Amino acid sequence: MRGVGLPEAVARFREEYRDREIPAGYDGRLHLAFTFGVGSIALVLCLLQLQAVLPLEWLAVPLTWLYANLAEYLGHRFPMHRPFRGLGLVYRRHAGQHHRFFNHQAMPLDDLRDLRAVLFPPLLVIFFFGLFALPVWVGLSLLLSDNVAWLFVATGLGYFLNYEILHLAYHLPDDHWLAQRWLVRKLGWLHRTHHDPRRMAHNNFNITYPVCDLLFSTLRRDPEDKPSADAGDNARDNPPA
Ligand SMILES: [Zn+2]
Ligand SMILES: [Zn+2]
Repeated sequence: MRGVGLPEAVARFREEYRDREIPAGYDGRLHLAFTFGVGSIALVLCLLQLQAVLPLEWLAVPLTWLYANLAEYLGHRFPMHRPFRGLGLVYRRHAGQHHRFFNHQAMPLDDLRDLRAVLFPPLLVIFFFGLFALPVWVGLSLLLSDNVAWLFVATGLGYFLNYEILHLAYHLPDDHWLAQRWLVRKLGWLHRTHHDPRRMAHNNFNITYPVCDLLFSTLRRDPEDKPSADAGDNARDNPPA
């Protein structure tokens, strides 16, 4: 049954959020279809633009991947967990809503409508891709080549789709087949640690692969048999309310 076994504050917030933030006509399946359907079509369209890619041009793929990993890390560490002027919506949606809907003791969603609290809203996706990808595409196309520009956008889209699949998988019920994949369980444990309110402003800002967390020494791997909820020595890390 919905809400059973959840910490009281989470159960209360979920009901409030569903009443206040999820429009009556919201359909989680349409949200999934937009994210993965439109995202995959856009990715294929980018790949179809490639023509006789030179060996050096393929370097755009790993470089964009690293750039996306850094963007994921910085975007999550700063505007999503610290209030910045002009980016209040991002902070409110993430720290104020996503982290109250799910915490380390309540990671799985209850039903398809809860996807609203997990997936990026379509308008925000279009806005961010327009704001960040379009100017870089123009710049790379002018300065380097069309192939590099298309590989940049294709890799960025692929990274985004991978991010959405993984983050969704971390918030699925434990017995879901996707949640039981080895990689999802390993990476999902890091994300669960990040959802501990005492950890969220300090650790595990990479939601996909913890490359930047390793580089910037913010990776925290709690042993799986000893969740951070039980680690009394960590109380000093409480973020400000
Ligand atoms: Zn999450
Ligand atoms: Zn977070």
